[in-house]
Amino acid sequence: MSLVFLADISYHAQMANQDIENSKKFESLSKSANVEILTDADSLKTYGKDWTKHYTPKASAVFLPKTTEQVVEIVKWARQTKTALVPSGGRTGLSAAAYATNNEVVVSLQKMNRILELDAFDQTVRCESGVVTEHLQKYALENGFFYPVDFAARGSSQIGGNVATNAGGIKVIRYGLTRQWVAGLKVVTGRGDVLNLNKSLVKNATGYDLRQLFIGSEGTLGIITEVTLSLAKKPKELVVFVMGTNELDSIMQIYKRFKSEMTLIAYEMFTDIALKYVSAQNVARPFATDCKYYVLLELEHESDAYLERATEIFSELLEAGVVIDGTISQSPKQAAELWKLRENITEATSHKQPYKNDVSVRVSRVPEFLSEMSATLKREHPSFEVVWFGHVGDGNLHINILKPDDIAGPQFVEKCKKVDEVMFKMIEKFEGSISAEHGVGLVKKAFLHHTRDKAEIEIMRDIKRVFDPDRILNPGKIFD
Ligand SMILES: Cc1cc2nc3c(=O)[nH]c(=O)nc-3n(C[C@H](O)[C@H](O)[C@H](O)COP(=O)(O)OP(=O)(O)OC[C@H]3O[C@@H](n4cnc5c(N)ncnc54)[C@H](O)[C@@H]3O)c2cc1C
Repeated sequence: MSLVFLADISYHAQMANQDIENSKKFESLSKSANVEILTDADSLKTYGKDWTKHYTPKASAVFLPKTTEQVVEIVKWARQTKTALVPSGGRTGLSAAAYATNNEVVVSLQKMNRILELDAFDQTVRCESGVVTEHLQKYALENGFFYPVDFAARGSSQIGGNVATNAGGIKVIRYGLTRQWVAGLKVVTGRGDVLNLNKSLVKNATGYDLRQLFIGSEGTLGIITEVTLSLAKKPKELVVFVMGTNELDSIMQIYKRFKSEMTLIAYEMFTDIALKYVSAQNVARPFATDCKYYVLLELEHESDAYLERATEIFSELLEAGVVIDGTISQSPKQAAELWKLRENITEATSHKQPYKNDVSVRVSRVPEFLSEMSATLKREHPSFEVVWFGHVGDGNLHINILKPDDIAGPQFVEKCKKVDEVMFKMIEKFEGSISAEHGVGLVKKAFLHHTRDKAEIEIMRDIKRVFDPDRILNPGKIFD
C-alpha cells in the first residue's frame, strides 16, 4: 500500500517538475517570438485530438502562431528543445493524424486565417493555411469563381489541413482531389527553412516538384502557412438524381450508362441502413419504395436538351428494371435536401460510436469488393450493423461498423481491429488502398504495408529525414 502511495507521490512530483520544465521552455518562446500559448486543461484536450474517438489526447501545450515568421521561431525552438510538434487545422481528420498523444506541442494554424489575394486573371486565390474550407468556397463564389473540393466537414476543416491530407470529397470525379488545385505553397520545414513552392506557375519544369511532396504529407515534413489555390469556373445550376436499386452490379451499371453521355459532378452510394439512420433525423426519404442500395448522381444543367437526355436515360434504366425507383431535384433547394441523405450519414450515426474505415479499389471492382467484404462481415460478425456509403464514382468506400449496445467500447474496438486485418488483406488482394482519402495517421500506420511496399516506405522515411532531421514534426504518424 505505502509503495503505491510513494510511487504516486513520485509520479506527481515528476509531473510537477515536468510542468515547471515545460513552462520554462514555453516562456522563452513566448518572450522571444511573442507566440500565444495555451496550457489549460480544456485547451489541451480540445486541440489534442481530431474527429477520431479511440485515442486519449495528451498535449503539453497549444501554440497559436499568427505569422510564418512565428512558425519559423517555433520550429527553431522545437529543434533546440527537442520538442515534438503536431500541426493542427480544423481537427476534422479521421485518421488521428492531428492527435497529440505523447506530450507534443500542438501548433494550431487557426489564427492564420486571412484570405490574402485574389488574382482574377490567373484564377487563383492566395490564403493563409488556417482559412476554413467553406469560407474559401464562399469567397470564391462571391468573386465569380468556384473552389470545387467539397465535403461534409467543410464548415470546420481548414485549407492547410485539406492540403496536408490531400482531401477528396464529393466532386472528385469531375474536379479531382485537392492536389489538382494547389498552385503554390509556403511551407516551414522541420529544419526551419521557408520554402516558397511553385509560385502559381502553370508550367515549371525545373526539377523535382517539392510542392507535391507536402500534399498529403500529414504534417510530417513541414508546416504549411500559405496556400495558393487555382479556382474553377462557377458551374451552372446543379441537378441531383437519387435512384434506388436492389442489385450491387446495378450501381456501376447506372454509373456507366450516365457517364457514357454526360459529365457527372458526383456519384455517391449509400445503403438502406444508412437511409434508416438519416431519415430518423428528420431528413425526408427520397421516395416511398424501399431499396437495398441508393445512388446520388449530380450533373450540371448545361441546357434543357442536356437535362432532358439525362431524364431519358433515367427512364430507360427504370424500364429495364436496373433502377427500381428514383427522383430528380426540381430546384437548388430540393437538390440540397437530397444531398442531406448522403452528407448527414456521419452525423446521424455518430451516437452509435462507429468504427470507421475508408478504402478504395479500382472503380470497376467496387461491387465485387463490396459483395465479398460484406459477406465476410455477415459471416464472422452477424451482430454488427454495418453502414456502407461512399464516393463510388472514384472507387472510394466508407465502411462504418456501428457499436452494438451490448458490447463495451474497448471490446468493440478490439473486434473491429480484427476486421481491419481481414479487410486490409482483401484490399491487398484487390490491389486497392487501405486509405482512400482520410490518410494514415495513427489509425492505419500498422497496415501501411498492405498498400505500399517495403522499398516505398523506406524511401518515405528517407524523405522525412531530409525535411525533418530531428523528427520534430508529427513523429509517429504514417510510420514510426
Ligand atoms: C463529417 C466528415 C466528413 C468528411 N468527409 C471527407 C471527405 O469526403 N473527403 C475527405 O478527404 N475527407 C473527409 N473528411 C476528413 C477531413 O475533413 C479531411 O481530412 C480534412 O482535409 C482535414 O482537414 P483539417 O483542417 O480538419 O485537418 P486536421 O484534422 O486538423 O489535420 C489533418 C492532418 O493535417 C495536418 N495539418 C493540418 N494543418 C496543417 C498545416 N497547416 N500544415 C501541415 N500539416 C497540417 C495535421 O497534422 C494532420 O496530420 C471528413 C471528416 C468529417 C468529420
